[in-house]
Amino acid sequence: MVKEKEEYGHEINIKGNRCYRCEHKWIQREEDKPAVCPKCKSPYWDKPKTKFNRDEKI
Ligand SMILES: [Zn+2]
Repeated sequence: MVKEKEEYGHEINIKGNRCYRCEHKWIQREEDKPAVCPKCKSPYWDKPKTKFNRDEKI
């Protein structure tokens, strides 16, 4: 099995999430995207580290 690039963000693989900040991975059970990472509590868990514009919608 070749492991290519790691995935981050919302709904990777099977409803899995991964935090950009602490690299914590978890399986989401609710429909809505979590507001914060359950581990590091960062509201920017689904944003790349280089993008830090709070008000900008990408
Ligand atoms: Zn985190």
